[in-house]
Amino acid sequence: EMKDNGKNGFIFFDSKFSDKAKRKLLLENLLKSADYDKEFSILYQPQLNIHSKKIIGAEALLRWNSKELGSVSPEEFIPIAEETDCINSIGLWVMEQAIKQSAKWNKMCYNVKVGINVSPKQLDSKNLIETLTRILEENSLSPKYIDIEITENVAVAGEYKIHQINSLFGSLGVSVSIDDFGTGYSALSYLKIFPFERIKIAKPLIDVIATDSFDYEIVKAVITLAKSIGIRTIAEGVESEDQLEILTSLGCDEVQGFLLGRPMDKYEFEKLLKNN
Ligand code: C2E
Ligand code: MG
Ligand code: MG
Ligand code: MG
Repeated sequence: EMKDNGKNGFIFFDSKFSDKAKRKLLLENLLKSADYDKEFSILYQPQLNIHSKKIIGAEALLRWNSKELGSVSPEEFIPIAEETDCINSIGLWVMEQAIKQSAKWNKMCYNVKVGINVSPKQLDSKNLIETLTRILEENSLSPKYIDIEITENVAVAGEYKIHQINSLFGSLGVSVSIDDFGTGYSALSYLKIFPFERIKIAKPLIDVIATDSFDYEIVKAVITLAKSIGIRTIAEGVESEDQLEILTSLGCDEVQGFLLGRPMDKYEFEKLLKNN
């Protein structure tokens, strides 16, 4: 868009960029002043064993109902939180809530893990391990009921991140899953570096597994490799019976997706656990 500046010349004005920049600044400021307990909540999306169809866990997914803007998608605000360091305090809130909830379900004798998304930025934080240890202790929860989901390309991650990931497995004892595997720069060489417990096969691959023979072969190869080195696989974003059938035939271990259950509040999830 061009605007006449009134001086026999033109200034260029990209209104699209400006709107985007304004929105980002607005979200940044609203995130900084957000009342977490009032505006944030966590939904739990079931993860099932592909054969027994029993629920084996839930992924904790953050929701933001901004006082000013209403509901804002995590796809939009998480990247902004990551850029502005807010992710550390938001991540702390999520860990506290999710671990508290996991401990409650554990005391009710539901044998399920809660998966917590930890952003690469949080891995840089010096007190991540101590914080997790403290929250687990405060809730008397064994680390085996927590799974940490990491998307970082650990093959090119710095020494410190590698050290932190090893501490998650080692001194802390939680399990770690690689999230969104098969997109971006994820490489098979990761699997050699860490004793990951599980690969989460990314939704974009699952989306086309029934229609794109190339992506079908990729998923098949990932599942075969994971099996041969003793790592479990879970498919993300499973929406159709066709996809479920293909994944079963390929030997995928677990599934998560709208077909099996949408992200839901803790009460709804608890109802599912009662009938599990
Ligand atoms: P993710 O960790 O890969 O989470 C899975 C996303 O896929 C979730 O989106 C979930 O609602 C969606 N999903 C699951 N099954 C289906 C399906 O069958 N169909 C469709 N269309 N979508 C499905 P959501 O909740 O919007 O979260 C988006 C991303 O935001 C997450 O991707 C994760 O990267 C990030 N995120 C969410 N909560 C947190 C958090 O507490 N901390 C951090 N660091 N990131 C988070
Ligand atoms: Mg995830
Ligand atoms: Mg994912
Ligand atoms: Mg993601």
